[in-house]
Amino acid sequence: MAQIISGKEVSKKLRAAMAEETAALKAEGIVPGLAVILVGDDPASQVYVRNKERACTELGFYSEKHVLPAGTTQAELLALIDRLNADPKIHGILCQLPLPAHLDEQAVIERIHPEKDVDAFHPANVGRIMIGDYHYLPCTPAGIMELIKETGCEIAGKTCVVIGRSNIVGKPMAMLLLHQSGTVTICHSKTRDLPEVARRADILVVAIGKPKFVTADMVKPGAVVIDVGINRLPDGKLCGDVDYEAVEPIASAITPVPGGVGPMTITMLMRNTLTAAKLANGR
Ligand code: NDP
Repeated sequence: MAQIISGKEVSKKLRAAMAEETAALKAEGIVPGLAVILVGDDPASQVYVRNKERACTELGFYSEKHVLPAGTTQAELLALIDRLNADPKIHGILCQLPLPAHLDEQAVIERIHPEKDVDAFHPANVGRIMIGDYHYLPCTPAGIMELIKETGCEIAGKTCVVIGRSNIVGKPMAMLLLHQSGTVTICHSKTRDLPEVARRADILVVAIGKPKFVTADMVKPGAVVIDVGINRLPDGKLCGDVDYEAVEPIASAITPVPGGVGPMTITMLMRNTLTAAKLANGR
């Protein structure tokens, strides 16, 4: 029986500690502030933004939501970011992705001041992560590192396989595992004999967006399995990229979907916002 790594429980612990830290900062007149920008009416994005606002309220942060119509121009969006960059109440700015197709996502990411870039997507922050000298970690990989810590599994020297090479999950994930001295392989859609590579992993992180892609024959007995995928099945249920029922009996620890990586992503966003507030105030 694998250890079921509950992102909800780990999040609860981390958020309790953050709420205390926020209260202490407030006593000094510092209130962490997050601005969330939502362009258009994508239902999934609306849910994510609502959850982020809720987390801010729970921790005692100041938060602002800027909902812009789908037809917003690039110039209007950049002008809003400029205003938020200059606003001292706002320590973190997050522009919910994906943006409508007519907007230039990379230009938007690069307009957010690196010190307010709590998603850690700005090239300056991405570069800092590469070097290993950073203030902010990208939220999903940072949350996964906390979940691995929870299992008690020592990363140093372990064979780590990351399936997926996106800029927001796969690549930074591999980098964080490398910083902890894991021996890291990144797999993607062109990887040859992926099941054989995956089977070598002591720590397997899967972030591809393909329901139940990782089957039992792709997992080494005793591996720690982290499932990042969020897929909606035809019956409306959510499922991950790992065939949970088949893999759970083989793994030493596994994250469920939902309730695994998902809650940690928002918790790490809150941590980055808290860090941003402290940095802005010389803490
Ligand atoms: P992307 O679509 O940006 O990247 C998917 C990656 O998976 C690509 O590198 C792609 O390879 C690879 N891939 C796709 N199909 C295969 C395959 N058959 N074999 C091997 N590799 C494959 O996805 P994201 O990284 O943004 O997200 C991945 C999943 O994680 C999604 O389900 C998403 O919803 C979820 N997610 C969950 C979060 C959370 O908080 N829990 C946060 C972010 C994402 P190639 O580069 O060669 O095309």
